[in-house]
Amino acid sequence: MVASPELTRAREAEVGGLTVRRLLPLRHRRTVGAWCFVDHYGPMSVDGVTGMQVPAHPHIGLQTVTWLLDGDVLHRDSLGTEQMIRPGQLNLMTAGHGIAHSEESPDGHDPGLHGVQLWLALPDAAREMAPAFEHHADLPALGLDGFDITVFVGSLAGNASPATVHSAIVGAEIGARRHAETRIPLRPGHEHVIFVALGAATADGATLAPGTLLYLGTGHESVTLAAAEGSRIFLLGGEPLGEPVLMWWNFVGRTADDIAAAAADWDHGIRFGKVTGSAGEPIPAPPLDPARLARRLAR
Ligand code: MN
Repeated sequence: MVASPELTRAREAEVGGLTVRRLLPLRHRRTVGAWCFVDHYGPMSVDGVTGMQVPAHPHIGLQTVTWLLDGDVLHRDSLGTEQMIRPGQLNLMTAGHGIAHSEESPDGHDPGLHGVQLWLALPDAAREMAPAFEHHADLPALGLDGFDITVFVGSLAGNASPATVHSAIVGAEIGARRHAETRIPLRPGHEHVIFVALGAATADGATLAPGTLLYLGTGHESVTLAAAEGSRIFLLGGEPLGEPVLMWWNFVGRTADDIAAAAADWDHGIRFGKVTGSAGEPIPAPPLDPARLARRLAR
């Protein structure tokens, strides 16, 4: 018995001077596979303005997956990485025990900006690993009945991304070359979400527009996708994580102590290293409310 599909709406949030659509986490659904955070921003004009300005901030226990549909963003991190990202390329930063990074529209940046910022929770066995960074410009692409699909992490229909991940997942961008319809094979042991970044689509009959998230639980062999010409769609999924995660600010942990220790280390300038070259001042951790954190753990 397959449960009926679940549609939810994004809430708006402010990140680095931009308004974003936050699609995940949901109050009742903290993770989908290992995916624990989905922000979609744009398309927007950043012509003649500063654009994205996210100065140095820390992460633990997750991987950040940065993917652009339009524009350019400069990543710097405390490993010394400085990497421009452009559409069709992947920036994958593994925080592990701790890393700091900044993400900023570069000087002389493109006039448009459109992208997603995604987080993968690291499973318990990997979450204390050493931090790492990868950039991939060469990713598997497949054509399917008028759709162009790029698999940026994990695997889909036998096409595997070279990016290093720590659980069985898929992350793919699906573009409609024309009005297109197809069946996309899914792994029935995985749960998935689908959302539209641009245009309009239906997935298993559910109508999707930017700001809407469709959740498909385990048990689906495929999803039937139809989309208008020029639509851009994301498919994210994975094996249910099976571990309750505790997310606070930029940290993914398991206990309130994990979170409090990371926040204290950031305040004291230890563990995360320094990001050099970022335009802004490092972002301080917000005040930590232990009672609120405990309530989140209980949910
Ligand atoms: Mn970040």
